Amino acid sequence: MLNKKTVDDISVKGKKVLVRCDFNVPLKEGKITDENRIVAALPTIKKLLADGAKVILCSHLGKPKGEPKPELSLAPVATRLSEILGIDVVFAADDNVVGENAKNAVADMKDGDVVLLQNTRYRNEETKNEENFSKDLASLADVFINDAFGAAHRAHCSTVGVTQFVEEAAVGYLMQKEIEYLGNAVNNPQRPFVAILGGAKVTDKINVINNLLDKVDTLIIGGGMAYTFMKAQGHEVGKSLLEIDRVDYAREMMEKAKAKGVNFLLPVDTVVTQEFKNDTPFKTVPNGGIEADWEGLDIGEETRKIFADAVKDAKTVIWNGPMGVFEFENFAKGTIAVAEALAQTDATTIIGGGDSAAAVNILGFGDKMSHISTGGGASLEFLEGKELPGVVAVDNK
Ligand code: AMP
Repeated sequence: MLNKKTVDDISVKGKKVLVRCDFNVPLKEGKITDENRIVAALPTIKKLLADGAKVILCSHLGKPKGEPKPELSLAPVATRLSEILGIDVVFAADDNVVGENAKNAVADMKDGDVVLLQNTRYRNEETKNEENFSKDLASLADVFINDAFGAAHRAHCSTVGVTQFVEEAAVGYLMQKEIEYLGNAVNNPQRPFVAILGGAKVTDKINVINNLLDKVDTLIIGGGMAYTFMKAQGHEVGKSLLEIDRVDYAREMMEKAKAKGVNFLLPVDTVVTQEFKNDTPFKTVPNGGIEADWEGLDIGEETRKIFADAVKDAKTVIWNGPMGVFEFENFAKGTIAVAEALAQTDATTIIGGGDSAAAVNILGFGDKMSHISTGGGASLEFLEGKELPGVVAVDNK
């Protein structure tokens, strides 16, 4: 159980409530191309509006590196939010975020009004968690709510610093849901508990692998990171992604799995090619069969069956990272097979943000999963067993 205050524990009627959302949405020529993060923020916003709060929203967007960048303005999000909520969301277009526009807009607010501040990362102090910007943000509000799971692994002014200068600080519904799904899976899983890891690099997931080996019944590794493990098994991997300085670590992890009785599954065959592109000849080879000038871009057919079988009778499955270069149609089959297997199992299925979340949504399996995390980096840190600063900073119950 979450021991942090939530929106259900506080009274907000007539109060000014600053909500840190994760509106870090992909934009193309000023248009939002995926609004999942906006939709995910709605339950908290609607609850606060229903309770008669004055709702002040803030978020970062991209990496403007501490200065105003018009292409990273949150203005398109205000427009879209107005459409979705059916009310006028006032955009406070201040280059220094908490300027005259923001102050005036907030002063004019009535209960049930919504104001969106400019990109918090326009301010240089934001990512350094410096006190003056934290105080500026807090000066607008009585209560702070952190609903930005995707930024919860960062100790910034708008996620951590601000909590010190408000009357009350709580988590929002999205944050609560993320923590409960990921927390239950990691700390109190229904078994069998299977974790599937993929993506490019072992280095990015070193602590995840180590921590999950203490928790799971089965650990599956595919994607680019599998070749370092295959090398540790004694197989040649040709031009495939290989982190030679992690081969010893890979061996250690395989020994740890054995000692703990964890079923550790690696690819048994690989789809290989000679060029890193979609339209190029490819073939499937068994382990040991990758020739010197070939590289693996996907898991093979036999591996897809083994991985899919492993989740059939699972009760909890966590998946982070694609099984191959899923951006190329010819090498997306392993990732599709895993997504399909997860869509079919009765297990609680949790997708750990980032590329695997994108893959599941693009492939049309989004509504078949129990939970798709909105935070790639944050969910990985969670799986590492770390506490998230953005969660730690809010009030305890
Ligand atoms: P990550 O950000 O670590 O989750 O890695 C995701 C990226 O890994 C995607 O862009 C994939 O294209 C890439 N990837 C997955 N498998 C392979 C592979 N076998 N070779 C090269 N890149 C891969």
